[in-house]
Amino acid sequence: MSNKDHFSLSGRTQLSIEFAPAVSVPEYLAGEVQSKLAYVDERIISAHVGSERITLEVLAPLDRSKLSSSDQAELEEKVQRVILSMAKGAIKLKVNVLEDHLDRQTLYHQDPMPDLLARGEINQEDTGIYTLGPLLTRLIDFFEAHFTELAEVFEATPYRFPTLIPARYMERVNYFRAFPHSLSFVTHLREDLDVIDQFSQHAACDEHGLNTPPNSFSKIQALLSPAVCYHLYFALADKPLPSGRVVATAVGNCFRYEAINLTSLERMWNFTMREVIFVGAKDFVLENRELARQHMTRVFEKIGLAYRVESANDPFFIGEFRKQAAFQSAFQLKFEIRTSLPFKDDTLAVGSYNYHQDFFGRNLNITLPDGSPAHTGCVAFGLERIAYAFLAQYGLKPENWPAYVREKIS
Ligand code: AMP
Ligand code: ZN
Repeated sequence: MSNKDHFSLSGRTQLSIEFAPAVSVPEYLAGEVQSKLAYVDERIISAHVGSERITLEVLAPLDRSKLSSSDQAELEEKVQRVILSMAKGAIKLKVNVLEDHLDRQTLYHQDPMPDLLARGEINQEDTGIYTLGPLLTRLIDFFEAHFTELAEVFEATPYRFPTLIPARYMERVNYFRAFPHSLSFVTHLREDLDVIDQFSQHAACDEHGLNTPPNSFSKIQALLSPAVCYHLYFALADKPLPSGRVVATAVGNCFRYEAINLTSLERMWNFTMREVIFVGAKDFVLENRELARQHMTRVFEKIGLAYRVESANDPFFIGEFRKQAAFQSAFQLKFEIRTSLPFKDDTLAVGSYNYHQDFFGRNLNITLPDGSPAHTGCVAFGLERIAYAFLAQYGLKPENWPAYVREKIS
């Protein structure tokens, strides 16, 4: 392990630590492991996972320029735990490509973020929290028109869902076990005059956040919703499904705390998702998921988006990752729409086609007319991401956009 001094960041020294992983990390897992290192230790400010080398940038304690050897050993031990859990004996999951339009000719090769910030088109309020200006708003409305058109093809019922989601429901669908790292909790002051008085006098922000008197907050009953479709399943819970099938659509604020991975519009803490949701028998859900994909193929062709649809897995937390990802892959439960980001020669998921089998039907007791648990599936689009990916492919000047898009947004 090496521990090299770097430079000072807000009075604290930033160090680079390197060591070999306990088992080598195969290339196909490197990104997945790297994204999990964001949650290993609060001192980590960036991480890079190579097959034979882990590099961490960490902050030294306030009063020192180095980490003590026991602190370093503790940090390394936690990282190795993640690596062993995710990489030891890992088997490469087969990637099934359903369509590939990544070679579609796009014009732009720069990161749109600096320009968007410089123009005041986006304003970063805090980590992962952005205000969007007129260009992005109009682009998102343009994409939204296509998503609501998709919903109309299926005669989906429109819904509006709350931003808060009750903890007791999240527990019922195993969310705390599968994705604890990305949860965002909601609380309020305890209903107690002394607590509220104390808070009003002493609450004060510093650069790390809000300082409050101890025991100010009530027990957590609600979280910020990480997805849209859960609300529909909760509304259908513990009853037979009316007429054996439901197709619904809704757009909503979603929240996933992604720590140091919260960079640019690519990965936000607070983002917006449009979903079209299918509930019913297995074949009904699977057929509609496929019809939705075929419909969107035609839409993306008109828009000129360069993308690929391929099998994927959800970002399960460390201990759950291997088993759950293998399960999703084996049963082809998730496909992502991955758009190219030409400036970094990479792809970004702007949407997904999901089939949950009877997971929600079983856990939430949603039954079909024959008494068996309902199957569910959803098509989900990240609105900020799709607008961002479009700008990464075509730039900020409407005159360089495909004619179809230009004509619709004037
Ligand atoms: P998922 O349910 O994980 O398939 O998410 C559906 C879509 O939401 C993704 O394809 C993204 O477009 C979008 N999305 C998910 N997480 C984020 C995030 N942290 N920031 C912005 N968009 C996101
Ligand atoms: Zn969904």
